[in-house]
Order: sequence, then C-alpha cells, then structure tokens
Amino acid sequence: MPIINLSQEEIPTHYYNIIPDLPKPLDPPLHPGTKKPIGPEDLSAIFPMELIKQEVSQERYIEIPEEVRKAYYLYRPSPLIRAAALEKELGTPAKIYYKYEGVSPVGSHKLNTALPQAYYNKLAGIKRLTTETGAGQWGSAMSFACQHFGLESMVYMVKSSYDHKPYRKIMMKLFGANVVASPSNLTKSGQKYQAEDTNHPGSLGIAISEAVEDAVSRKDTNYCLGSVLNHVLLHQTIIGQEAQKQMKIAGDYPDIVIACHGGGSNFGGLAFPFLKDKLDGTKPNLRAIAVEPASCPSLTKGKYEYDLGDTAGFTPLLKMHTLGHDYIPSPIHAGGLRYHGSSPIVSLLLDEKIIEARAYEQVEVFEAAVKFAKNQGIIPAPESSHAIKAAIDEALKCKETGEAKVILFNLSGHGHFDMSAYDDFMAGKIK
Ligand SMILES: *Cc1c(COP(=O)(O)O)cnc(C)c1O
Repeated sequence: MPIINLSQEEIPTHYYNIIPDLPKPLDPPLHPGTKKPIGPEDLSAIFPMELIKQEVSQERYIEIPEEVRKAYYLYRPSPLIRAAALEKELGTPAKIYYKYEGVSPVGSHKLNTALPQAYYNKLAGIKRLTTETGAGQWGSAMSFACQHFGLESMVYMVKSSYDHKPYRKIMMKLFGANVVASPSNLTKSGQKYQAEDTNHPGSLGIAISEAVEDAVSRKDTNYCLGSVLNHVLLHQTIIGQEAQKQMKIAGDYPDIVIACHGGGSNFGGLAFPFLKDKLDGTKPNLRAIAVEPASCPSLTKGKYEYDLGDTAGFTPLLKMHTLGHDYIPSPIHAGGLRYHGSSPIVSLLLDEKIIEARAYEQVEVFEAAVKFAKNQGIIPAPESSHAIKAAIDEALKCKETGEAKVILFNLSGHGHFDMSAYDDFMAGKIK
C-alpha cells in the first residue's frame, strides 16, 4: 500500500496542544522594555483574543472551528506515502514513510495555520492583516487565507527574495495581497534600515519589525506570524494526527520522526502528536529529529536564552535557542529556514533531551533532494530536503546494522518555485 489516504471525515476535529504534557512549564515571554512577563493585554494590540488564549492554553485538545475544517476540505487530508522506490535505491531494510504537505494550494504546510489565523481575526472584527515573508511561502499562504475569509493582506517581503524570487510575489498579488520589499519606506523601522544602506538586502527579523509596526499603528489591523509561536505549532498538529491514523492503517509505528526546522512549525506539527506517546511512557524509545541548515544553526549552535523575535525590538523576548536577533544568515536557497531563533516549545524539548537536532550543509541536502526526486517523482522544497537527507542517513545506518526501523518524515512542501536553485545545483554552483 504505497499511498495511504484518509477520507475528509477523518480530518481531526481538534488540535493537539502539547503544553500540558511538557516535562516542565515554559518560561513566559517577557516585555521587551520592562523585561517583566507579558499578559494577554500586551499582545492584544496585534493578536485576536482567541489566538492569545491558544498561546497560553493548558487544554490538551482545542476544537477546530467548523469554518476552518471546511476550508481544510480544499486540500486535506494530505497523503502519507511509503517511499518504496527510495528504499530500494538505498538497499535499506528500513521502511521510509513521508507525509506530503505539498498538496496544499500554496505548496506547503503553512496554509494549515494561515487559515485559522485569518478566521479568528475575521471573527474579532479585524479587516486587515500584516505579515513578513522570506522566500514567499508564508506570504502566499497568508494571502490566500485572507482572500478566503475576506480580509485585506499586507506582506513585507525580504528584499533579496523580492528581487530574485518573482513567482511567489506574483502568486501573492494574484491572491489579492499588497506586497512590498522590506526594508520599505512605509514604516519607521524600514526607513531606518534604508538610511543605513540604500541597497539593504533585508532579513526576516527586519520584515517582522515592519509588519508589527504597521499592525500596532492601525486599529483595523492585526499581525500574524507563520511559525515559532505556540498557537502556530498547535494548528500544525493536524499533520501529525492525520499521520498517526495513516501509520495505523499501514500497520506501523515510527521509530524515528524527522522534519526540517526553521521556526519549528512543521517539525512540531508532525512530531508532537507522536511525542505525546513518548511523554506519557507508551513509546519511550521514539526518536524525533529536527534538521536545520549548517548556515543557520539555531538549535545545534545557538544559545538557549531569552532573545527578541525581531531585529528592531518590538516583539516580546522569548526563551529559545537563538543565534542572536541581529544575526543575518548567509543567502542560502532554503529561505524558509533562515530565522535566527526557534520555537520555545521545541527549544524546551531539545534542552530536556526529549528530541534531537542536527545540521547539514547545503550540497549534501541538494544531493538528497535529487535522489528523492529521481525515485519518488516529487521535486521537494529545499527546506523539506533537509528532512530527506536525515531520513536517508538513518536508513543507511539501518543498512549497516540490518535493522528494519520505521522512519517517518515530513515533506513540508514542493520545490516548484525553486527551480533556479536546482539549476544552480546541477551546474555545480552551490557550494
Ligand atoms: C516555511 C517552511 C519551512 C520552515 O518553517 P517551519 O516553521 O520550521 O516549519 C519548512 N518547509 C517549507 C516548505 C516551508 O515553506
């Protein structure tokens, strides 16, 4: 059974919240000025109350609103696929499965949270949402979700991507979004970075500052973030819950769960429902691996400490693995993995040694991506290819030991907008 599909009735009815199951409480976010723990009212300038409640909720299961479930019918459930051809190519006794989130209309898992975020803002009477985007994956998801629920959207896109990745920009505009290059001249923080360097390439941290500043300055406008925060990871658990049902149909349970890590949302989304079984003692030996690029190694090289989420200092301080809020990663192709920080929940799990993290160089990641594409026929997003590389490495270890382990990884998106990166790789231009 190489492809395992579920019916639409089997889309989960609730999100799984891992917070009550964590081995210890999360350290609270701190106010960037006073350094005191922030309350719900501090966040209400940019987030609707329902999302603020989810951010701190101790409820293990949170119901998915009917309108959001209906919106998920556009593309969910996503398939679980056995990578049989890849297994054969590797000559491994391991079984490799992947959950394919590239079937979403925007090509990645990001729509799973964009839809509920737009919905809860609409419900709160908000008319307009601002956000940042790097390579454009999150911006396209947000633009489509706003279009779906009748909201205006304003996207601050990191200038280097704005100039070099025109297709995602066109996609966002097609869905009705306003898209500007960041740093822009529309905000005080954008003007400041433009003044420093008229050709500033921008960064995610700067684009976040601009989007937050915009949202704070208008009553009809809120801000939304595509990763890192607890409520974003919460929404993504729809991935892992579906995968649990599908693995059951396959008659297997994973020994190893793998996902790439930028801010932690597709990793948390796939891994948390399985980690629940580890945390409650049912599956004590389950391993979960978060994979990041060696050029932006927040989990493997970052410090576990309080840091800002943006560059200008508008966001709360979060306790997380971080490279520092003014870190500007080298311009690697996996734009979606270029964030200086990480999810506070993923950071705590790593610090408690419940999960593992590992980093790979760009060339080995592209080699893995091409091997996967040649065997399975899907050209993966460069971000997702980090997970593929780890899955292949684990499968090759099984070849050495003769163990028939079950490996599950998240194929968080397709790479159809990343053809020039593949072109560069095939021409030997990627080092
Ligand atoms: C944005 C993105 C990522 C990284 O974000 P996470 O929050 O860590 O999941 C990974 N894969 C794809 C395809 C993306 O678009």
